[in-house]
Amino acid sequence: MPIDPVPGLLSRATELLESEFASLPALEAPIDTTAIGEVLKAVSHRLGDNYPYFHPLYAGQMLKPPHPVARAAYALAMNLNPNNHARDGGRASSEMEIEAVRQIAGMFGWAEFLGHLTSSGTLANLEALWVAGQLAPGKRIVGSEQAHYTHRRISAVLKLEYAEVPADRLGRMGLEALEAELRKGDVGTVVVTLGTTAIGAVDPLDRILALKERYGFRVHVDAAYGGYFQLIPEALESPARRAFAGVSGADSLVIDPHKHGLQPYGCGCVLFRDPSVGRFYKHDSPYTYFTSKQLHLGEISLECSRAGAAAVALWATQTLLPLTPGGEFACGLAKGRAAAKRLDGLLRSDGSGRFRPLACGAPELDIVVWKLGAETPAEASELAQDIFAACATRDLHLALVQLPLSWFQPADCDGSSSDVGLVTCLRSVLMKPEHDAWLERIWERLMGASADVFERQT
Ligand SMILES: *Cc1c(COP(=O)(O)O)cnc(C)c1O
Repeated sequence: MPIDPVPGLLSRATELLESEFASLPALEAPIDTTAIGEVLKAVSHRLGDNYPYFHPLYAGQMLKPPHPVARAAYALAMNLNPNNHARDGGRASSEMEIEAVRQIAGMFGWAEFLGHLTSSGTLANLEALWVAGQLAPGKRIVGSEQAHYTHRRISAVLKLEYAEVPADRLGRMGLEALEAELRKGDVGTVVVTLGTTAIGAVDPLDRILALKERYGFRVHVDAAYGGYFQLIPEALESPARRAFAGVSGADSLVIDPHKHGLQPYGCGCVLFRDPSVGRFYKHDSPYTYFTSKQLHLGEISLECSRAGAAAVALWATQTLLPLTPGGEFACGLAKGRAAAKRLDGLLRSDGSGRFRPLACGAPELDIVVWKLGAETPAEASELAQDIFAACATRDLHLALVQLPLSWFQPADCDGSSSDVGLVTCLRSVLMKPEHDAWLERIWERLMGASADVFERQT
């Protein structure tokens, strides 16, 4: 996990950066390297108390190691610690942010837009719903029950009424329930999730856009986790492919480079289809906006100080790995997707009856969930927890998730999930390209741990 994949690369870049400022009088910088070394020793030890997120055997939550170029560029930028609030604080890094965000918008085919980086997907969604509320005051926000919980909270912060519609047995927003809400005539914005956080379900954006024609509402796409799958439509099943093909019809969109985009934390992104929404951000700053006639990013962002280093890291990553279909970055995504399909296949073809994958379909992106076979939901939940712990002792780290029991019961898959309670399931996010090559080793450990737990039980 070296920050410097080729030893010396970062120090050579640091020397180059120093030479950019060589005309300044030299600085005396007395630092106590012994004391720093001692503290760093303690830090290394403390950090050991983490799951090994960088390793392919960590296959639990949405954690993906930043690319070495992102880490090096971030560290390099730390020599200056630019602030992308205003050009005074980050002239070069503001330019890099503008370029990087334009590339992200380009991935969705948006040539004209307003957008910027944020410190997180939560903040990015907050800005999108804030603009939604400005455009349609008093109207409701509607999302699926599988939408990220942040939307309900954000709506409360913004004092916008929020309603949830049930999801179907694949975790996608239920269209009949949505239409029932729309008929009430007071829906201002529908939050469409392309890749739910729990299972990677893709809401039917194409069909929701057809409803927009009829009912007239704003569409906000939350693709914080799933947005980059836009690059690999050929690897998706047709419902997800059709949904991603609809992104050009959305009014706003959120994507998190710090989830699938190989970035360190502190990097979300919000895009607006109509650049004129910039008018809502308008304000006068007595402090910051004097040195340049060009746009300061703080003039189109709710956050003030933002890490310029995050923009530098993103720019560097997208320069090395452009966001193009068929490119190296897209191939990395496709590998995680392939690993997820294979794991789902192994679970389905396992004859032991221990594993119950989703009853109505396979994973849509790169998250796999499965229930354990048991007499009662309580027993299945307990088994999930025991196997989760038994895997960890074999260095395989999965995650747990509570899902509707009905999703695992073979039945009429067109119906919405009836209210028969939740069950704790195992969940694996296979978002690292290396997961594909490691899948056999992951499966071996899962089988070993499951055998132990089931045998203990009988
Ligand atoms: C992760 C996630 C969020 C929240 O983003 P943060 O960057 O964690 O604040 C919102 N929506 C979806 C769909 C997500 O997966």
